[in-house]
Amino acid sequence: MSEIVLENLGKTFGDFTALADMNLTIANGEFMALLGPSGCGKSTTMNMIAGMLRPSTGAIRFNGRDIVDVPMAKRGVGFVFQNYAIFTHMSVRENLAYGPRAQGVAAAEITKRVQAFAELLQLETMLDRPAAGLSVNILQRLAIGRSAILEPAIFLLDEPLSNVDAAFRAVMRSELKSLQGQFGQTMVYVTHDQLEAMTMADRIAVMDHGKLLQVGTPLEIYNNPADAFVARFIGAPGMNILEGTLTRHADTVSAEVAGLGSVTLSPAMQGAAALQAAREVQIGFRPEQINAADQGLTMQVTFVERIGARTIVHMEQGASLAKAVLPADVPPPVAGDAWTFAVPDDAIRLFDPVTGRALGGRTH
Ligand code: ATP
Repeated sequence: MSEIVLENLGKTFGDFTALADMNLTIANGEFMALLGPSGCGKSTTMNMIAGMLRPSTGAIRFNGRDIVDVPMAKRGVGFVFQNYAIFTHMSVRENLAYGPRAQGVAAAEITKRVQAFAELLQLETMLDRPAAGLSVNILQRLAIGRSAILEPAIFLLDEPLSNVDAAFRAVMRSELKSLQGQFGQTMVYVTHDQLEAMTMADRIAVMDHGKLLQVGTPLEIYNNPADAFVARFIGAPGMNILEGTLTRHADTVSAEVAGLGSVTLSPAMQGAAALQAAREVQIGFRPEQINAADQGLTMQVTFVERIGARTIVHMEQGASLAKAVLPADVPPPVAGDAWTFAVPDDAIRLFDPVTGRALGGRTH
């Protein structure tokens, strides 16, 4: 088990900065997801932790020890990539046994571990089959097993589920989570899929353009995104963000969207010092927190998607776009109609239109 500390970590390729000034502590036994869009620097960070890439600046510490000069094989790290590295000419059993054998683990112990991991990963029935010819789903499961069987203190997974099909991905999400729970390794999981990060991680580090934007538990990030990018990236659909203006009437502050209406801010938000100077703001609210109302914001409904347990209402007004998610038993508005909705004041989030950073008080 290991604590990982990234301290002012940075990586440049020529003039290009792939990662800048990353500070992150991953606790012993924690499941940390590095989440962000393609090119944000997730794999670069992971490859530096693994030892495949040397940092340009900063330090990486495992249990307090700087490991930048420690070669990959000596870091005690297991690594699973998007593209499984399997010996196709070997059987499933031989693939699982390969790593422990190379490490000189005793034969009886190898047999025991192979059996245990085959059971855990539901590979028992195919132990003697050649890996060549197995489905992509099974190969990726085997790749995870091959790395996990070495019981590394740190387990790094870089998009391990992006090539497997959707049903299998859902199964693997819960299996990986329970595997990590059983072994208690420190797990770093790279993904661009917010659902994977939200469902598996203890905490999520959200990145964009080589920068760490926010670190928090899935609910902290969902409820109180530190940044408009994070707000949009988390959730399916993501948070609605509308351009607005703060207006003050006597001692209440509301946020107005030109041509749509206005929303009232919570007392905590109204009292926040950061709002005193702000006038132009970005108004954020989750699609799930919208209710039909007589007063609030009015937008034109463009499209209504009924997807089983919920309905997604797509809306537009001038340059503003928004979505509402309604439970299936709530009658939705009709496409082509204008629809008025309200958002509870404690569900409103405000962001600086220039920096994108969150403004005002947190209510959760
Ligand atoms: P993806 O999921 O697409 O790999 P990512 O968030 O993991 O995205 P990285 O692979 O870390 O992103 O890459 C970050 C940026 O650094 C990208 O713009 C990439 O093109 C660039 N980059 C990565 N490796 C190199 C390299 N060896 N030389 C030059 N640029 C690189």
